[in-house]
Amino acid sequence: MKIALVKGDGIGPDIINEAVKVLDKVAAKYNFEVTYEEVLAGGCSIDKIGEPLPQSSIDQCLSCDSVLLGAVGGPKWDNVDSSLRPEKALLGLRAGMNLFCNLRPAIMYPQLSAACPLKDEIIGDGLDIMVVRELTGGIYYGKRGSDENSAFDTLSYTVSEIERIVKKAFEIAMVRDKKLTSVDKANILNSSQLWRSVVERMAKDYPEVKVNHLYVDNAAMQLVRDPNQFDVIVTTNMFGDILSDEASQITGSIGMLPSASLGSGTLGMYEPIHGSAPDIAGKDLANPIATILSVAMMLRYSFNMEKEAKAIEEAVGNVLDLNYRTGDIFTKGMIKVGTKEMGNLIAQAI
Ligand code: NAD
Repeated sequence: MKIALVKGDGIGPDIINEAVKVLDKVAAKYNFEVTYEEVLAGGCSIDKIGEPLPQSSIDQCLSCDSVLLGAVGGPKWDNVDSSLRPEKALLGLRAGMNLFCNLRPAIMYPQLSAACPLKDEIIGDGLDIMVVRELTGGIYYGKRGSDENSAFDTLSYTVSEIERIVKKAFEIAMVRDKKLTSVDKANILNSSQLWRSVVERMAKDYPEVKVNHLYVDNAAMQLVRDPNQFDVIVTTNMFGDILSDEASQITGSIGMLPSASLGSGTLGMYEPIHGSAPDIAGKDLANPIATILSVAMMLRYSFNMEKEAKAIEEAVGNVLDLNYRTGDIFTKGMIKVGTKEMGNLIAQAI
């Protein structure tokens, strides 16, 4: 497999190096070959060639089997022209690779339950929710404009845009608990009424999956009232952006959560949900686990390598069981380690 590495900015290079270490170990153990190609994107690309994402970087990613991304952005580029901001690289990569489906699992590791901001009786013995977010349509990509007195953004979806993301969500629900919650605002928005009607029509093709619909305001409230009522959530771009952040924070550990962005083929982009953490960049302080778990998602969703993906997830669990923690998840009595040692320990546990 040929993997595009978009290390990016801040802690990006620190965490990608550890993810590569772990993937190399999995490849050696399970006998497959990996090669890497480094791709320029983000603030480092602005510094080098004056733009956050040259077309050549998109082409390079498209020529690989999958993409692993660290993070982009940082205060150094906060004042550049808005069309040149490092974050443009993310939107450009998603659109350029037609990655319309964003998977954000919110999993609470029992070893880290103390970091959960909710009461024990609400969380029970853990949390495992998959948020399936539409990624290349809706209000973030609609027509927009502004003048001195007004501004507008447009929210629109086509039937085919809704069908392709809802199909992914049903497929994921089928291999999990067969429970799908579709989140919309169909009491107000036309686009949500269309969304809901498509979900209802497609539900007939998946009779085993129990489907329910929630308005987004109610869903936001239910996520903190009783998160375990959810298994798979499917929703639009903006609602998914907000709800997936809320769901991930319930687990209490931003340095632990991976994500996948998928299209209709096997090419995907995999990245941690956190940003470039410029405050700790290059100091051997970043938690590499979210990026290492992103590699597990890559093996599962782009390469259909379930056994290898599980090996990584179990290795992470084993290292946590041995009480090793990076600073962000450290509590009293645990053993504090840096980025590199955490990567080494997980690679050894493979
Ligand atoms: P952030 O996620 O980078 O950092 C928030 C806090 O969490 C910081 O205190 C940071 O030190 C800590 N943190 C984050 N990841 C960590 C890790 N792996 N280990 C330990 N601690 C970790 O969010 P921010 O501060 O809002 O953003 C910083 C920069 O990252 C901004 O330029 C922002 O635009 C960018 N950003 C990029 C992405 C991306 O590339 N996907 C996502 C979000 C933010």
